Amino acid sequence: MSVLVFIEADNGVIKKSSLEAVTYGSKLGDVTAVAMGSIDGSELQKVGKFGAAKVLHCSDERLNDGVIAATATLIAAAAAEVSAATIVMSRSSLVDAVAARVAIKTNSAVVANVQDLPDTSNGFTVKRGVFTGKAFAYVSVPDGNKVITIAKNVVQLEETGTDAAVEEFSVSFGDADFGVKRVGVHKQEGDILLPEADKVVSAGRGLKGPENWQMIEDLAGTLGAATACSKPVSDMDWRPHHEHVGQTGIKVAPQLYIAVGISGAIQHLAGVNSSKVIVAINKDPEAPFFKAADYGVVGDAFEVVPKLIEAIKNSQN
Ligand SMILES: Cc1cc2nc3c(=O)[nH]c(=O)nc-3n(C[C@H](O)[C@H](O)[C@H](O)COP(=O)(O)OP(=O)(O)OC[C@H]3O[C@@H](n4cnc5c(N)ncnc54)[C@H](O)[C@@H]3O)c2cc1C
Repeated sequence: MSVLVFIEADNGVIKKSSLEAVTYGSKLGDVTAVAMGSIDGSELQKVGKFGAAKVLHCSDERLNDGVIAATATLIAAAAAEVSAATIVMSRSSLVDAVAARVAIKTNSAVVANVQDLPDTSNGFTVKRGVFTGKAFAYVSVPDGNKVITIAKNVVQLEETGTDAAVEEFSVSFGDADFGVKRVGVHKQEGDILLPEADKVVSAGRGLKGPENWQMIEDLAGTLGAATACSKPVSDMDWRPHHEHVGQTGIKVAPQLYIAVGISGAIQHLAGVNSSKVIVAINKDPEAPFFKAADYGVVGDAFEVVPKLIEAIKNSQN
């Protein structure tokens, strides 16, 4: 079976979540990847290590801006080029906007926010997250074309292959494909971008005030993690708004999420419950976060966090 995987890059570097989509696609059939905009050939070749034999690369620089309509046209054209009945993409703000458009162009069923590999023992059934991750739905997809968007951390990256063959892929776009133009981008500052971070240290109102955030930054620095916060913390301007995670904030899915002095309200959990391992530090043993956490420390953050930093530093030496 021919499978097409859409891969996204950030500043020319392919996102880890896109490599996860390649690994996912390789479990379903023969993967061709499609990429767009300014990405080096050597960067594209590495997609092969995760299971793609070939990468179709549309290097049109207008696609650097992630224009939704043009991206959908590109993916549909690539699917036609390789006769792919299954298209896999990893969720992102672009993919969330593009998936339904690709489904219409390719006459496909679409299943969004898929959490696991499909059960193919009797047709094609996938598990998808619903109600902001509070529940799952099992969706059976009839025979025919499918567009699957997967959540982060659904599969472990597997380096099994060698470099992929990279081919330039041209698409004749229409005016409507570039009907919307991006005129500016304000990017989060710092080395580690929160939505892509592998580790996140987050803190809430339990920290009492912005003057106490140094220990959170120290813990994040020790672990090589990004920092985040709960909504009230950013509402009170203790931290910048781009750090607020949750239902109304950024959705994160790191390997490790450490929540310090955060109650664990459902609106907060909605943005972090896809994290692989959750550690909650809270002085209240009844705090709801402990129900969602893999590890919990009941204690005062001002005592626990400095000891944690010290212990991590000792283990690193
Ligand atoms: C429509 C809607 C959308 C929302 N969206 C979001 C969202 O996207 N993200 C979000 O975060 N919230 C969101 N909220 C708000 C959410 O409901 C909670 O109010 C919020 O998450 C609580 O933040 P908090 O845990 O930092 O503060 P609190 O609820 O005040 O909890 C502070 C916690 O810190 C603990 N604590 C206190 N002192 C210490 C100490 N010294 N050491 C250790 N622990 C300590 C306390 O035991 C408590 O559990 C939303 C609410 C609504 C209604």
